[in-house]
Amino acid sequence: MNEPMQDVIRAERLGKTYAEGKLHTPVFDGLDFAVQAGETVAILGASGAGKSTLLHLLGGLDVPSAGEVYVAGQKMSALSDAARGRLRNRALGFVYQFHHLLPEFTALENVMMPVLLAGGSTAEAQRRAQVLLESVGLGHRLAHKPGELSGGERQRAAVARALVNNPACVLGDEPTGNLDEKTAAVVFEQMLALNRAQATSLVLVTHDRRLARRLDRVMELREGRLHALAKADV
Ligand code: ADP
Repeated sequence: MNEPMQDVIRAERLGKTYAEGKLHTPVFDGLDFAVQAGETVAILGASGAGKSTLLHLLGGLDVPSAGEVYVAGQKMSALSDAARGRLRNRALGFVYQFHHLLPEFTALENVMMPVLLAGGSTAEAQRRAQVLLESVGLGHRLAHKPGELSGGERQRAAVARALVNNPACVLGDEPTGNLDEKTAAVVFEQMLALNRAQATSLVLVTHDRRLARRLDRVMELREGRLHALAKADV
């Protein structure tokens, strides 16, 4: 509980082995990682290196086989499922390669959802969702459902949703990986600008070294360990 406040997420001696019957897949063991308030970190690594697994563990979406994850100073393993869910909704934002917007709801309603889940009023949710959607250039698409938006617009709505509760940290798993290069660049710049404006930390899993270079730190996940890369080597 009394973790230093400058680390918004900290993983200590993290281990993960997937076990299915007799098949054991060790992904990492003894991994240490910390993200400070406002810091942006890129995680590179070959396919299968464990990047998505790491992000799931940092976000409390999966349980480590060993070690601990602290989010906003709270030890994830010490929380009930409900408390972990509340902390996730309040302190973290998630953006994936696929938008995961709810198809039957409008862009505005999708972005309102995390605010309502956190106990905000409808009026407050509406106000904040609208501000966020306007800041990603979707002020004219509030009433559109995901199926009526372009791929880039859907990802921009997903970015707005991730940031609407002003989280301590956004976890992004290839958030622009499914877009053409030009659209990806626009969505990435908007995400980075919003993160910086809100002083929200960002942990971004990406294959794209050009995007990775734009962040404060670049790490590579290799053989179960995170290695810091010099920008010149990215
Ligand atoms: P990356 O995101 O870097 O491509 P992943 O985290 O998805 O890597 O996967 C890391 C390793 O764990 C891979 O070898 C993958 O096959 C394995 N893995 C991922 N999810 C599971 C699972 N649910 N059950 C068993 N093995 C898994």
